[in-house]
Amino acid sequence: MDKLRRRVRVAAYFLLTFSLLTFLLHYVGGFDKELSINARNAAYVSIDDSAQDGNSQSSIDFDGESIALNCEIGAKGKWPFCEISLALDDNFHGLDLSSYHSIGIDVDYYSLNDDERLRIYLRNFDPEYSTEDDPVSYKFNAIEYAPGVGNGMKVIPLKSYQVLSWWIADYEVPIENAGPQFDNIVQIEIATGSYIKPANYAIRLNRLVFYGHWLSEATLLRLNILMWGFAAIYFLINERRRLAEQVSEMVAKSEYLKQANQHLYQESLAFKELAYTDNLTGTQNRHAVDCWLRDIVDFSQRNCHALSMVYIDIDFFKKINDSLGHHGGDEVLKEFGRVLNLRSRKTDVVVRWGGEEFIIFCPATNLRGAKEFAEMVRMIVESYQWANGLYITCSVGVTEYIPGEDIEDFIQRADSALYKAKKQGRNRVEEATV
Ligand code: GH3
Ligand code: MG
Ligand code: MG
Repeated sequence: MDKLRRRVRVAAYFLLTFSLLTFLLHYVGGFDKELSINARNAAYVSIDDSAQDGNSQSSIDFDGESIALNCEIGAKGKWPFCEISLALDDNFHGLDLSSYHSIGIDVDYYSLNDDERLRIYLRNFDPEYSTEDDPVSYKFNAIEYAPGVGNGMKVIPLKSYQVLSWWIADYEVPIENAGPQFDNIVQIEIATGSYIKPANYAIRLNRLVFYGHWLSEATLLRLNILMWGFAAIYFLINERRRLAEQVSEMVAKSEYLKQANQHLYQESLAFKELAYTDNLTGTQNRHAVDCWLRDIVDFSQRNCHALSMVYIDIDFFKKINDSLGHHGGDEVLKEFGRVLNLRSRKTDVVVRWGGEEFIIFCPATNLRGAKEFAEMVRMIVESYQWANGLYITCSVGVTEYIPGEDIEDFIQRADSALYKAKKQGRNRVEEATV
């Protein structure tokens, strides 16, 4: 978790620094680029209308700094012109200027009037509409402006360029190709303006520069969005994985706790069993029936069921101890408990009440039934083949619970009945008086 948080923090710091730095760099011009076109990297020629229907004449010269065109516009041609033509292409592979936003041009135009306009063409070659043997088929991206003389650099956004409408019409260029296009500029032309009058003119090209960004603002923005997006996706995937891990960890933990609880529960049941069982005879002990007795008394009263008790005491047990020793006596007690458990009914509860005394609680049994059961027990004990040929008898007191009486009284009355049985000679069953 901490590792992930640290990683996220580091990534966030990195991205923030990256974003701030790149935008800052962008605004101070760190991503700017310039492309200068001059006599050294472009082949310059003069062109005029004498090759067509005109009689204008032109000459061109490079003095080491500027390209100078001298032009005498004649009156013969329908569209007279002169121009400086800069060839940029190498076998029709021109310059891709689409990543530039502006053109800077320092040109002096010596003409009849100060506001005489020049045309600056950026000619794009595209096989979609251009053919190699027809130079007019190269797209005319054009602007027209009046540079005057000595006015220095003029920066014009490439957005200002428009495609000449006659060219679109003549070449029947489909609308999707009719917009300005700068991805393969093969030629730049600086030409005299439209409707020019016959006279002498001069064009002096001092500088021509394209300005652009090698990383545009839009690209920078896209790059930043992408990086932040990837970082967010990475973080979300990690977070999801971490949550899934936590959930499965919690499931495993709760499964473990469930099992541990189950184990503890089983153990506690086993301890309960030990605590509630008399370990010599395997019958219940007094402690075990405390709760149960209260419940069965309550239940019997509410449901008008009879509840009886058979209180058994082995006769002259001391003598057995005397003859067999304490351990022998224990063995007899064990066997006695086993016999009682075997002979009692499923619903009966056999309890070792203490020493050689046992009580059998008989739910849903009235006094008569209990007496019959007690008599059966007495007879079984008497006729049982005890170890060492012992002859064992027992005395039994029987009571039926009187609704509303205390449990102690209920037991006390059974004890009294047992006492009576002892007094009247033992090996007999007596019922309690109410
Ligand atoms: P009675 O017929 O009057 O009941 O005579 P009794 O000898 O059986 O009665 P008494 O109450 O005088 O003596 C009970 C004897 O049972 C005394 C005691 O040593 C013995 N006894 C009690 N608990 C145990 C036991 O867990 N193991 C053994 N071996 N003897 C026990
Ligand atoms: Mg006794
Ligand atoms: Mg006894």
